[in-house]
Amino acid sequence: MNNYLIVGPCAAESREQVLTTARQITAIQSEIINDKSQILIFRSGSWKPRTSPDTFKGVGEQGLEWLMEVKRETGLPVATEAATPEHVKAALQAGIDYLWIGARTSANPIAVEAISQELIANSQKPKAVLIKNPANPDARLWLGNIARIEATGVPVMAVHRGCAHRPCWDIAYAVRQARPDIPMLLDPSHMTGKREAVLPKLDYVEQLGLDGAMIEVHYCPEQALSDAKQQITPAELLSVSRIPSPRTDKPSTLSWYRAMIDEVDEDIWTQIEKRMHLAQQIGDWKKQQHMTPLQPERFEAILSQRIEWAKKHCIETDTVQSVMNALHQEALRHQQ
Ligand code: PEP
Ligand code: MN
Repeated sequence: MNNYLIVGPCAAESREQVLTTARQITAIQSEIINDKSQILIFRSGSWKPRTSPDTFKGVGEQGLEWLMEVKRETGLPVATEAATPEHVKAALQAGIDYLWIGARTSANPIAVEAISQELIANSQKPKAVLIKNPANPDARLWLGNIARIEATGVPVMAVHRGCAHRPCWDIAYAVRQARPDIPMLLDPSHMTGKREAVLPKLDYVEQLGLDGAMIEVHYCPEQALSDAKQQITPAELLSVSRIPSPRTDKPSTLSWYRAMIDEVDEDIWTQIEKRMHLAQQIGDWKKQQHMTPLQPERFEAILSQRIEWAKKHCIETDTVQSVMNALHQEALRHQQ
């Protein structure tokens, strides 16, 4: 099976930005691609599905022209996002090689159905359609979308980008189990939303035996008009030796379980941090009211309640006591 590395900016912003980024990537191409089975693809979005209406929405069809200029100049195949049948039509007309369906579109089966109708009707076909996981963690909907696009006869690939900056490995595992025949890529950029977290996440491509990665790369991320915090530079892409290499072994279920454990532990620390922040706010409030930080009756009350809650989850009372005592000590430190 091939291995894919899809890189380029979140959005096409200007001709200069698209071409400069593409030129910097092609300059390091031989260093990041070292095997014939690896396919390098240049990406950028022309229509951006944004949260707020007053943020950059993309440049529209003009962005396709800049992508085609990249293709002519560098010889790299190019990819863009399609969220409507009109986007599919325009991208195919322009000569774009690969389309991807974004997480927000993937959450809407009617939109995916409309895209599939256009793929059937259009005489031009993309090399493949990449389907991101839905913005909500729903493995069955993701599989449903794979089936919707597959029905058009166009090859499909899955892109796992997690949900709300959490990995949600469970849905990737479910889709991998159900459809091991479909390439699955990792998108560490949207998965983490943080530049410094992007490259370390790439380790999972190898650990889980995935088929490559889609990474947002911008020649000057600080100036990016969308997803500025998560884009890396071509130099950063080069600076690590973690560029996905083609998989050799079948990954074990154990690797997936370990990824899921990593995620649960990360969640636990996030929740503890949240709890400590609340404890601090409570501490400030108590100070204003001239109350002492320690209220023993409140601690006793929550401890017995938590023991009851934990019983429903088959967790031993001893464990609850140790965890709650440790949390309480830490909270008191935060309050002082
Ligand atoms: C993107 O790839 O730029 C994008 C919008 O991704 P997602 O749909 O995963 O948020
Ligand atoms: Mn983006």
